Amino acid sequence: MKYNKCCPKCQSTEIAIIEGGTFKGNVYNTISTGLNTIFLTRYLCTQCGFTENYLDDVNDLKKLKDKFVRPSDSTDFV
Ligand SMILES: [Zn+2]
Repeated sequence: MKYNKCCPKCQSTEIAIIEGGTFKGNVYNTISTGLNTIFLTRYLCTQCGFTENYLDDVNDLKKLKDKFVRPSDSTDFV
């Protein structure tokens, strides 16, 4: 949906792109890591209403990876 601008549910190509952030005092579409607030970009099909959220900043992806992804078996790193 992000890349082909086509809804996977109804095949509509009218996709609204809504960036996360602050608007009129409201903060929305975010993930908090405690130290950082990370904004997601929403892709919304204007035909059926299906939405997908993407995190567009690779640095933010790394922050979330460091915080939330745990090694399944730490002995892998020996
Ligand atoms: Zn759709």
